[in-house]
Amino acid sequence: MRRANHDRMAAPAMSVCAQCGSPATPHQACPSCGMYRGRQVIEISDEAASDNN
Ligand SMILES: [Zn+2]
Repeated sequence: MRRANHDRMAAPAMSVCAQCGSPATPHQACPSCGMYRGRQVIEISDEAASDNN
């Protein structure tokens, strides 16, 4: 029972990724494309996109 309600609103400032346009935190890497400030900081696997395998 340590979950306070502040855990739900931990990200008050939501931004949009400049690369893919997905909602992402302003000062963190985009969870969708892994880009942050024009750099690839997260390796995103394209396995989800290859659905027609
Ligand atoms: Zn993105």
